Amino acid sequence: MDGGDTLEFRTEAHASPVSAADRDVLLVDPGFGKVFTDHMAVVRFSREKGWHDAQITARAPIPMDPATAVLHYAQEIFEGMKAYRLADGGAALFRADANARRFAQSAERMAMPPVPEALFLDSVRKLVAIDRDWIPHGEGGALYLRPFMFASEVFLGVRPSNEYLFIVIASPVGAYFKGGAKAISLGVSRHYTRAAPGGTGAAKCGGNYASSLIAQAEAVRQGCDQVVFLDAAEHRWVEELGGMNTFFVFDDGSISTPPLEGTILPGITRESIIKLAHDEGLTVREERYSIDQWRADATSGRLTEAFACGTAAVVTSIGVVQDEGQSFTIGSGGPGQLTEKLRARLVDIQRGLAPDPHNWVERLF
Ligand SMILES: *Cc1c(COP(=O)(O)O)cnc(C)c1O
Repeated sequence: MDGGDTLEFRTEAHASPVSAADRDVLLVDPGFGKVFTDHMAVVRFSREKGWHDAQITARAPIPMDPATAVLHYAQEIFEGMKAYRLADGGAALFRADANARRFAQSAERMAMPPVPEALFLDSVRKLVAIDRDWIPHGEGGALYLRPFMFASEVFLGVRPSNEYLFIVIASPVGAYFKGGAKAISLGVSRHYTRAAPGGTGAAKCGGNYASSLIAQAEAVRQGCDQVVFLDAAEHRWVEELGGMNTFFVFDDGSISTPPLEGTILPGITRESIIKLAHDEGLTVREERYSIDQWRADATSGRLTEAFACGTAAVVTSIGVVQDEGQSFTIGSGGPGQLTEKLRARLVDIQRGLAPDPHNWVERLF
């Protein structure tokens, strides 16, 4: 199969889905990643059959042999995307094709068979269609979609699996960081790194998260919201948070973000922000930025804002950075003006409230 191929789906609706009344209660304050819809998309891969057996079916546990490969060598990748409720009650995907492409790139890095982009998109669209009533209406709410794939062959040898499961689940979510637009604090990880040159930093694999958790826990212990990682070679260049990319805003109206050199996840929000900033007439540099420069620029006032971005939390100002027991504040320490403007530009496009000059939005219904 190539990227344009898809399959016929067999649809078996849930025999006893959550009632409308119970669903409405769950959608009032769904939090993040705690509430799930009735269905899931499942597609199988085997070396003999290729991609086959595509289904939309009731969401249910996946029975697993204890020797299933993913449980031992972590051959697993995922995506994170959202279906947005539009102002007129319809719903839309945002740049889903970019998620499909990145999923194929992650697969390649992890020696997994790429899911053809058309099959990926079909799975997502069909799941959203059957679970459409789960898309929240409230501000900041969306249906978070989690496509993922893992090695499902039962064996303990060290080689790429011959069998895989590709699954999409969906979870209605509220705002990621509770309390709306406030700035987050970051703790610099001086000991642990996230990704080394030649490693898996640019692939969206669960393993990257597994190795980041201890650093995130350390940042939280120090009273910070999130960890920020430096590069693995020199422990000097700012890379990204555990699951969000970083931007810096300067007093000359320019912005910068670390370049994609293989150790940073190529965020779709990151790329969208770069385009929107260009649209605003801003200069955007993709260049390395050191932690020492960050501290110096925040202190001198040359740096006026910094923010983190990703699908889950969209765009969030960084107020304070803690590094080796000392902290520095960016701007007022609160939400930045340009940050909020870029966030609003992006969210308005995603929600169908503003024109979509880059053709990012795909209306589903
Ligand atoms: C998913 C992810 C991001 C953000 O990517 P988006 O496509 O913008 O959601 C950033 N960093 C890491 C490590 C990620 O896994």
